[in-house]
Amino acid sequence: MDPVFSIIVPCYNEEAVIRETHRRLSGVMQTMGAPYEILYVNDGSRDHTAQLLREIAADDRAAKVISFAGNRGHQIAVSAGLDYARGDAIVIIDADLQDPPELIPQMAEYWKNGFQVVYGKRAHRAGESAFKLWTAEAYYRVISKLTDGMIPRDTGDFRLVDRQVADTIRAMPEHARFLRGMFAWAGFKQTPLEYDREARFAGETHYPLRKMLKLAADGVFSFSMKPLKAAAWLGVFWGAAGALGLLILLILLLFNVSGGLWWLGCLMMLLAGTVLACLGIMGEYIARIFDDVRGRPLYVVAQTLNMDD
Ligand code: UDP
Ligand code: MG
Repeated sequence: MDPVFSIIVPCYNEEAVIRETHRRLSGVMQTMGAPYEILYVNDGSRDHTAQLLREIAADDRAAKVISFAGNRGHQIAVSAGLDYARGDAIVIIDADLQDPPELIPQMAEYWKNGFQVVYGKRAHRAGESAFKLWTAEAYYRVISKLTDGMIPRDTGDFRLVDRQVADTIRAMPEHARFLRGMFAWAGFKQTPLEYDREARFAGETHYPLRKMLKLAADGVFSFSMKPLKAAAWLGVFWGAAGALGLLILLILLLFNVSGGLWWLGCLMMLLAGTVLACLGIMGEYIARIFDDVRGRPLYVVAQTLNMDD
């Protein structure tokens, strides 16, 4: 029987939580009285996650496993889940129980009432550092501004989407995947569902600063052309400043006043810095174009379990 609900769970080194996650998810799904599948995407874990997932899949036909040949990152793992999911409604949830599975019935209720995207909106976050809270807040503010409010604030990947929405995202082949932005871009009838984000059940975060910065950059450069325009405006600004400087210099020369040359050095450095920064901005776009033009697959699957039917 085809599942009504597909739950996508990206997993990277989640041996500390995965059993508990399966227990809680299954508990919730069984109360809903509709056929479901739970798709665990093992994103090249290096711990015992693969072994535990094998055991879980052996005990429970509803648990399916897609194992990558290497680590491709959270957004790609979720994208793979979307490719394999067969449900009419698809839920994306983290493996670490920061997003409470108990909210899924409520999301499904919205879906039955006609909403095609129900996204979790974090009202409160527990167990996260002041640094993460502050940078997340600042980032959501910036990305929301850059996309003219298209991407809602305080929204992560925890959401329920309709089959039609999932198929829309699957048809978007871009490699730099910022899924929450792609879902926002897709449109459809969307509604937020406010919730309190819990602390990680166990284990530690797999989003070190490096990965967070990459995700942040993907959000900015895949969804906004404003940085490019800012580069152009900087050019206009410095051009005008140069013209003004020249004028002042001419006037000074007319009055026989000779200034020192120190300011010239400062100005050169400022200008060189600006030019390099603008090149860097262009590089961000070019790297993403290169990634897409090269056309490699998003991920490589090494093995699947319980996928035969
Ligand atoms: N994750 C993944 N691949 C990665 C990093 C993370 O699939 O390279 C998964 C991870 O197992 C979890 C989710 O993405 O299910 C969110 O990661 P995490 O909880 O470490 O991030 P945080 O909640 O701290 O931002
Ligand atoms: Mg987490």
